[in-house]
Amino acid sequence: MQPDVYIVLEHYNSQPLLHESLLPPSMNFVGGMELKGILVRFLVWNRTQRKGSVTLELVVLIPLFILLSLIAWQLFLSGMAVIDTHAAVRDAVRVASTTGDTDEAEKQGKDSFGQSRGYKLKRLDVKIENDEAIAKAKVEIPILFLASKPITYETEEKAPALNTYNFASPLIMGNGQLGFPVANPTISSHFGIRTDPFTGKTKRHYGIDFPAPIGTPIYAAEDGIVKYAGPAGNYGYLVIIDHGGGLETYYAHMYSHQVKVFTGQQVKRGQQIAAVGSNGRSTGPHLHFEVRSGGAPVDPLPFLSE
Ligand SMILES: [Zn+2]
Repeated sequence: MQPDVYIVLEHYNSQPLLHESLLPPSMNFVGGMELKGILVRFLVWNRTQRKGSVTLELVVLIPLFILLSLIAWQLFLSGMAVIDTHAAVRDAVRVASTTGDTDEAEKQGKDSFGQSRGYKLKRLDVKIENDEAIAKAKVEIPILFLASKPITYETEEKAPALNTYNFASPLIMGNGQLGFPVANPTISSHFGIRTDPFTGKTKRHYGIDFPAPIGTPIYAAEDGIVKYAGPAGNYGYLVIIDHGGGLETYYAHMYSHQVKVFTGQQVKRGQQIAAVGSNGRSTGPHLHFEVRSGGAPVDPLPFLSE
């Protein structure tokens, strides 16, 4: 008692599943003939043994699709890992070069790398060597089905370091004429000849750079009258205080809204006059501080005391 529909199905299944024309021309050659034979035999076996309606899609396309998906996923994962690794070293070297704080730089680098369950940051080293901040990172990217043999990717970045100065050193104890313009000061660049961070050429630096986060208060180094407070090209916004006796102090790289004094205003030593910015010709947030005597820039260090 076979239903009619069964005959119809049988008829359908007896259609050749793999027609000559379905094969690419190259498969009609010797190697191709072999492959074709295998395929045909498999399909025939499948049809007779399983009585299923096996199709070309099931045999070839689905496994191929899965394989391609896995490859695409692997490439995506590797790409993301490389991007995150570069972000980590870039940000780490930026922090290290502007603050000289390698611990803080490593922390920033790890934050920038972010969290991913797909791959992990194996190592991030930040150091300052020969006036250069160097960050190296190594990331492990697992290969699908080969969890025990991950591929590793390493990259490194460098930037000129603004070498920090140790204020415990008696060398820099000044005569106390001027107070420090920022609290907890560190120096990233001294007065005198230095390598220009923009051009790489040596150039005279007319002041001292105090790196500090944007918004750090800047204090008047001594009583005086504000000679100028306003925009000044490469200096960003600039404040000049006249202390009398031909002594002037310059405070640079602020943004306009950070300047708290106006030209002609009288200020007291230690009074906040502005906040640290990175405006003008600046590689990172810092105060550029100058002392001028009789109009000529002089090394501010001997004037300063804690
Ligand atoms: Zn400077």
